[in-house]
Amino acid sequence: MGSDDGTASLAVTTSAQDGLWLPAEPAPGSPAHTVCRAYRVAGPLDVGGLRTAWRAVVGRHESLRCTLVERAGRVAARIAGDVADDVWSFVDLAARAEHPHAAAREFCAELAAAPPRPPARLAVARLGADDHVVALVAHRAVADDTSISIVVDELSAAYASAVNGGRPADALPAQPRRYADYARWQRAQDHRHLVDWWRATLTPLPTAPDLPVDRVRPPALSATAGVERFDWGASLGRPLAELSTAEHVEPHTVLLAAFQLLLHRYGDGDRIAVGMPASARPVPEFAGVVGLFDTLLVLCADFTGPLTFRELVRRAGAAVTGALAHRALPFDELVRALDVDRAPHRIPWCDTLFVVGASEPRLRLAGARVTRQPVDAVAAVADLTLTVDAGGPAATGILEYRADAFEAASARLLLEQLRTLLAAALADPDLPVRALPLESRDRLRAAIRDADRVADGPAGPDTVNTLVRRVAERTPDAPALSYGGTRVSYAELRAHAALIAAALTGGHGAVPGRPVVVRMSTGPRQIAAVLGALDAGAHLVCLGADEMGERGRTMLADIRPARLVIDGSAGPDALAQWFADELDGQVVDVTAPPAPAASSPVQSAPQDRAYVAYTSGSTGHPKGIPQSHATLAQFVTWFGGEFRIGPGARVAQWAAPGYDASLCEAFAALVAGATLCPVPDRIRANPEKIVDWLAAERITHFQTVPTFAREILRVISGRAGAPEHLDHLLLAGEALPGELAGGLRAALPSVRLINLYGPTELILATWHEVAGEAHGEVHGVTPVGRSIPGRQVLVLDDQDRPCPAGVTGDLVIRSPYTTPGYLGPAAADRAPFRPVADTGGWGIGGPCYRTGDLGRRRFDGALEFRGRKDFQVKFNGIRLELGDLEAALAAHDSVAECAVVAVADANRLATRLVAYVVPVRGPDGTAAGAAADWRAALRARFGKAMPPVTFRTLIGLPRNIGGKIDRRSLPGPGPARGGAGAEPESWGSSPTPPWPG
Ligand code: AMP
Ligand code: MG
Repeated sequence: MGSDDGTASLAVTTSAQDGLWLPAEPAPGSPAHTVCRAYRVAGPLDVGGLRTAWRAVVGRHESLRCTLVERAGRVAARIAGDVADDVWSFVDLAARAEHPHAAAREFCAELAAAPPRPPARLAVARLGADDHVVALVAHRAVADDTSISIVVDELSAAYASAVNGGRPADALPAQPRRYADYARWQRAQDHRHLVDWWRATLTPLPTAPDLPVDRVRPPALSATAGVERFDWGASLGRPLAELSTAEHVEPHTVLLAAFQLLLHRYGDGDRIAVGMPASARPVPEFAGVVGLFDTLLVLCADFTGPLTFRELVRRAGAAVTGALAHRALPFDELVRALDVDRAPHRIPWCDTLFVVGASEPRLRLAGARVTRQPVDAVAAVADLTLTVDAGGPAATGILEYRADAFEAASARLLLEQLRTLLAAALADPDLPVRALPLESRDRLRAAIRDADRVADGPAGPDTVNTLVRRVAERTPDAPALSYGGTRVSYAELRAHAALIAAALTGGHGAVPGRPVVVRMSTGPRQIAAVLGALDAGAHLVCLGADEMGERGRTMLADIRPARLVIDGSAGPDALAQWFADELDGQVVDVTAPPAPAASSPVQSAPQDRAYVAYTSGSTGHPKGIPQSHATLAQFVTWFGGEFRIGPGARVAQWAAPGYDASLCEAFAALVAGATLCPVPDRIRANPEKIVDWLAAERITHFQTVPTFAREILRVISGRAGAPEHLDHLLLAGEALPGELAGGLRAALPSVRLINLYGPTELILATWHEVAGEAHGEVHGVTPVGRSIPGRQVLVLDDQDRPCPAGVTGDLVIRSPYTTPGYLGPAAADRAPFRPVADTGGWGIGGPCYRTGDLGRRRFDGALEFRGRKDFQVKFNGIRLELGDLEAALAAHDSVAECAVVAVADANRLATRLVAYVVPVRGPDGTAAGAAADWRAALRARFGKAMPPVTFRTLIGLPRNIGGKIDRRSLPGPGPARGGAGAEPESWGSSPTPPWPG
């Protein structure tokens, strides 16, 4: 301790105080550390006496005159010698404010939401003659909850003495010890045995619960808190008391167990951490001392093994008892000792707190009636804090939440889930915890109903080409297409399509009901060919004009199309040549069509196939996904209506041929009488050129994938103006990072930003409009929203039961617009279409599509995408089965075995693929192949569609006990470039792999 200036001195701090002084955080000045109590005082108040009494209290406690400062790189407590004038403030709201009561509320809220300066202050507001509000404000670093009780008691006694003409100081007990004594004592302790106990207790390390937030919290230490009270009455209080007596635990421990169970359901971790503040004040030594004696205890709930609620309560009781017995280890020391990853703006393990509320003495101001007032706008550090009232049957308390992460309605639903869970657990504590419900049947039923949107397709049984024909009849001169300065009217498009339909009908072999492959780049000719093929009664398979490798031949051999349509002006096409030579196929060149046969459009029926989209198959064989006319017509009609596509709209066709999105863009525009603007190939993948093109083509609707939207955002941000005609930006195909959504909204404030989700098997399934978020930026991943009409998107558990809100399960879709099944070798794969058994009688039985996606329903009803169950990834929005690449590599002679993984960036978008290859070795140990050979093999298989892959050679692949490749145990991906064909790496320092095989 040393002298700082004339009247102040420096004292040692505790590490808990240091913890509130984190250089990276706005800690000393953050409202997160403000403690505020407000009291309404009715009746006569001796303001002068209160001031004298308060000054006496502050004068007694060094902590109340102490500020934390930094001296020579260390935190020190600077203790003012005198009681400063600013420890007291008085404001006369009766004279100044029109509505003094409202002003008083605001007055307290402002105090609570500001950093406490000085460290402790009493603020008095006069509302009227005998009407006052008294607010006590302190910095958490100088006064914990027990200290506030001490201060309140002392203030009451000192006031009584002051108004009776006595000396307030005389009314207060002697004060033998100071907080600095505690700090010195604590720093001298040897905590090694405590560290050992905590380390053993927290191994393996528990994780913070994965809360079903409405918004991922912004990176800030604290935010305004919202508060929900609960009082579950005697009907829960009684059985709760009974169970606690039976299990020899405090009643609040039963609530803790229920809370932990709820949190466990929200996440998938088996060990969940909840923080519990507790006082580590040594009593009786420091009983009357004001200061920070609180610490945070980490309570780990272990959910491994079969577990009943009773057993969980026992575990919770043991965890609390153990933690309390070892509370002398300061939390900061624990964090350092366990070397946990410290996420900025978070207190490790303490996103969620469980607090046993202590009752506090009332402020007594002799002669007046004092009642404690709630304070608005206090700050919350934790995402969620459940405070239960101690004493009595503890089924009352409050849930405090960060208002930047939760809506009030969500907090109420969360409490409702806790209550439902607790009620069921108390009714039968010996049930396995898995069997306990979080939601009533009624609530689940309502959610199931809510997930089901009535389809609003076209009125009649019309196919998309019929609908386009109608538009052409109504408005023949309207612009149907705009491409590179060329404008094609609806009449011209029809005429061109009719020519192609006639050309297709010529030749040998019937076309209606058969596949026609249109292998052309996007543009007016391709659209005419697509329409022509449909008019000829065929169904479509669209392929781009790029080199497709072996995959193209495999597909044509599978499809055996009646005709292959090409654009001969684009140059010779090896695949078409192969088709003609090897499969004896008929190729139709739209630039030199054969003599047309007299033909009139063939009317397809709604249930007839409209197209087949091919995607990556997990076995290495492309997978054909057929869709009916009814599905295509319903989808594009909904899409056009929902996103206001009509005459005058100019819709980009960005998706490449072959993806269902390309047909959807085309027909959403054309059936609505809008203008379709195909993006020329040389522009499609170039963000700079696209931004110019969007402006030049006056595009109103642009659909793309998030990965590319990010590039566009980068370009727009570097320029003065955004494409001014754009009013819908539609993103689909992969998860939309919140930061990207936020950036796009800021850069394109007048544009409707839509996140669309769904598998090709249903075209799309849900959508969400990213609104101007009330709380500024969007973080985390954007929700995928609600069902598109005609699709019921459900979250089901592993037994096909509906999951409650907040709980992650499988996204399963019931819809008449589901593909009937796959084509090609994948046809036998019916697993994704296994009907829902609906043993629970929810009315969700029957046909469905199991997406393989994980998701959860938020409290507001919107769905969130939570990753995949399998090894399907998205690369630039394109669906890729890692098994597809693995099969291609494994087929190479030099590959003994291999595993492919996707590497994602901070936004969880895949940026590249890494192939781990175990090469075949010759007798001398040299590898039979290298990166260049494997890359060539992939190239031969996938052609230009091959995604970028880097290679790492290993001497064996890690496998789990079941013998499957354990992808999680593969070494890191290594640098993006280089490392290819590197020498075999051993696993750690061990020369042989520590796994079998
Ligand atoms: P595809 O059939 O090629 O359209 O791919 C469908 C898959 O892409 C889905 O099953 C999801 O895994 C993923 N996906 C599509 N859209 C989204 C989205 N908006 N958010 C997250 N994942 C998406
Ligand atoms: Mg899709």
